[in-house]
Amino acid sequence: MNKKKSLSAYEKACELIPGGVNSPVRAFKSVGGKPVFIEKAKGSKVFDIDGNAYIDYVGSWGPMILGHAYEPIVETIRRQALDGTSYGAPTLLETRMAELIVSMVPSVEMVRMVNSGTEATMSAIRLARGYTERNKIIKFAGCYHGHGDSFLIKAGSGAVTLGLPDSPGVTESIAKDTLTAEYNNIQSVEALFDAYPGEIAAVIVEPVAGNMGVVLPELSFLKGLRELTTRYHALLIFDEVITGFRLAKGGAQEYFGIVPDLTTLGKIIGGGLPVGAYGGKKEIMQQLAPVGPVYQAGTLSGNPLAMAAGIVMLETLNNNPSIYTELDRKAGKLAQGIRNNLQKTGIPGVVNRAGSLMTLFFTNLSGVKSFDDVMQSDKQRYAAYFQSSLEAGIYLAPSQFEAAFVSHAHTDEEIERTIDASYRALQHLADH
Ligand code: PMP
Repeated sequence: MNKKKSLSAYEKACELIPGGVNSPVRAFKSVGGKPVFIEKAKGSKVFDIDGNAYIDYVGSWGPMILGHAYEPIVETIRRQALDGTSYGAPTLLETRMAELIVSMVPSVEMVRMVNSGTEATMSAIRLARGYTERNKIIKFAGCYHGHGDSFLIKAGSGAVTLGLPDSPGVTESIAKDTLTAEYNNIQSVEALFDAYPGEIAAVIVEPVAGNMGVVLPELSFLKGLRELTTRYHALLIFDEVITGFRLAKGGAQEYFGIVPDLTTLGKIIGGGLPVGAYGGKKEIMQQLAPVGPVYQAGTLSGNPLAMAAGIVMLETLNNNPSIYTELDRKAGKLAQGIRNNLQKTGIPGVVNRAGSLMTLFFTNLSGVKSFDDVMQSDKQRYAAYFQSSLEAGIYLAPSQFEAAFVSHAHTDEEIERTIDASYRALQHLADH
């Protein structure tokens, strides 16, 4: 595969942009090689500037559940742009967006739009602290909630990929208010509530972990979080930036039947434009300015382009429940295909899947259920598998600690091609 143009584009980008990328997860640091530069995308595919096509399982890290350049979304963005791209005053689009989110996400009675998942989670914990008048939060090792200072403690995603779970630049006084517990270990959460009575404002959790690779929650763990937070008068925050509108139209809270107090959203709600949102019980949301005292604002929040795109996205998902059955079927087929390949080639590994999210962990363990399990994975094997896949025209996340995203645009034929490519990549590992 010729990647000459990408190589020189990367060299130039590195002179001007730190690491040549505007988000560290895009770098190929942990898998070796240089990132390919994307020119365009359509449906399930991305095309690089050298003219190579890839079946894409990154999907912009989640938003592209209907595939790239989905025609009705493109058309609505085009139409909206002609009417202006930002006003800084209320629009009907924002109310329609709020109405859709409230009708689709079980626990959300009121919602505030922001511009990224990071803003959503930062704002949600400020609100939780303001509402409870407490300072500390509990997060889980290996979970990622954006790059807000309070979350860069034992963080997942790019932070774990690059070996930077605790970022310099986060002050001690901020870090001391972030307590960390173990995913799927309810005792580790209870111990913190015992150790800090009356101090914990909220527990924030990815209801399916996606940022240490996909790790499924035990139902008793999620139920336990609901019980503990209720008992200790702390808020339960589901960070559904990945799982929202993906696991089900009502996200993980619908999928598992657990009602959090606050929910953070992003990715899919923008249809690929920069957006985030947080919402929850009216009583809590009414603490936000201008009604209440907790301040949070945004020049571009509720941006009309993002709202127009997101409304088409959510209406499509809301009106077509078969999308979720299809996503589940296709992702199930892919996961099973890869499991069969592991067996045939004798390469040890575990495929974790929740709906259209999955990760192949290269591990000798029989199951991957915790961050400790995740950390035993063979990153070198993943790197080799990633490179073989890329050469075969399959674009995976350039890290063992991320999810693969299946979209509605992936065809059965493409899933089969992916399974074949995965077999060859695993066979290559077995031979070396
Ligand atoms: N929360 C979760 C669960 C995420 O996966 C991410 C991003 N991958 C974020 C928050 C942050 O979102 P953003 O990158 O839009 O700031």
